[in-house]
Order: sequence, then structure tokens, then C-alpha cells
Amino acid sequence: MSGRLVVLGSCGAWPEPGRACSGFLLEEKGFRVVLDLGYGTLPRLLELLGSVVGDGIDAVVITHRHPDHMIDLHGLFRARWFGRRGAPSIPLYSPPGVLERLATLEEGDAEAVRQVFDWRETPSGRIALGPLHLETWALPHFVPNVGVRLSCADFTLAYTGDTGLDPTLADLGRDADLYIVEATSRDQQPDTPPSPTAKPLLLSAREAGRAATAAGAHRLMLTHFWPGNDREQSRAEAAAEFGGEILLAAEGLVVPLGTQPRADPPRPAHFPR
Ligand SMILES: [Zn+2]
Repeated sequence: MSGRLVVLGSCGAWPEPGRACSGFLLEEKGFRVVLDLGYGTLPRLLELLGSVVGDGIDAVVITHRHPDHMIDLHGLFRARWFGRRGAPSIPLYSPPGVLERLATLEEGDAEAVRQVFDWRETPSGRIALGPLHLETWALPHFVPNVGVRLSCADFTLAYTGDTGLDPTLADLGRDADLYIVEATSRDQQPDTPPSPTAKPLLLSAREAGRAATAAGAHRLMLTHFWPGNDREQSRAEAAAEFGGEILLAAEGLVVPLGTQPRADPPRPAHFPR
């Protein structure tokens, strides 16, 4: 086995009972990248690291500043600030606005936040990140959001963060071994208040399937489910548009990546608790 992805959280907006909001841990050759850290993701991350102070994280990538994708970054800040003050800062890639939000939660102490996190704006080109390459693309959302693509010799993983439909989704997930696409599907909850803009800036499961097909992705993982949604219904809707394997993100789901023969694709297993 080469790398693996562990799902830290699968809900959009706010977490359902027993679940968490958006978050993933990607491990490749001992290198660990955290992708988003929404509500409730930090305890599972610390459990996986086996460290109460968050030791063992090599980089963090945050797609946008909405709290369901970054609020537990503040918990991680506290773990480092109180538990490992003076330790080397953790590289943090995000669009602008994330660090400022963290500083607001620390009574404006931006210097403390900068001591814990070495912030860099998400790159428009391809950069090296440990054994991986990182590329990001701007995608349409209510605030600046980037799609993230992480690749190495053995696999390519892509993740949308939150997005409206956009042709860039095909480039982001091009030939990816695993394409993680948000499938908020607000249409499953017709009685909830509408989005603050008339323009749809979140995807349905059907649109997620369409994006994976346009990209030529091998496997699709649906995530960012609106609380209360029927996830099997989402899978069925995506399957109408995408013919490959469709995974449903779930807290603790472990997905092996790379080096397996295509004819015998790896089956995801749940992280033992
Ligand atoms: Zn979100």
C-alpha cells in the first residue's frame, strides 16, 4: 500500500449527532497533510496522530474561511500554543481570510497565530509538499474557495472544498484516482431557508457525479452532506451521472491510495475505534 486518506468529517454547514464537518487526513510515506478542519474534526485527528498536542502534522490546507471547514484549526492552534510553544510552525496553505479569523478568536493576537502556523497563500502553480505535489484552483463560492489537488507517483487525489458548478472542476479532478466532491444537495431539504444569493454556489449529488465524469476520475467520494440528507439517495443521484465507484464520506472511513492493480480496487474499511 502507498498512501491513505482518512475521513475526519463529512457534514456540510453544521455536524449531525456523532459526526463532524469537513476534514480529511492524507498520509503518504509518513508525510501527513490535513485537508480542512471543520466543526468536530479535531478529536479524531488527534486520535489518529496519537498526540494530544497535535504532533506529527506536516502541513494543513484549508479550502476557505467558512467555519465548517476551518473552525477546529483554532483548537489545533490552542493545542500547539499551550502544548508545544516554540515548536517549529506548521505550514498552512489557504486563501486569504483564514488566519485573520483565527486571530479574531484570539482577541486579535495575530502574532501568536503566526507563531503556530506558517501561512502561505494557496499556490496557483504546482509546488512540492513533502513527497507530494500541491496544486490549487479558485472555484466559485460565497467567499474565496480553492479546489485542492495532491499528487505523487502512485496516485492523485482531488478535493473541491465548496463550489458552484464550474468548468474548472474537470481540470481539478482530471484522471484523479479519488475525486472528493461536495454534494451538499440542498434540494433534499426544500423547507430550509435558501442560500443568501440566487446563484447556486453549492453542488447537488447529481452535479457532483457530472463533475467526476467530466474529469475522467476513477473513483468519486461524495461529502459535505447537508444535515438530515439521505446519503444513499445522494449516491443514487450521483450514480445516474458517474459510472465509476462512488464512496460516501463517513467519519473514520479509511481509503487506501495507490499501487493496487486497477482490476482489484481496494475496498475502504472503517477505522477501528
Ligand atoms: Zn461548507
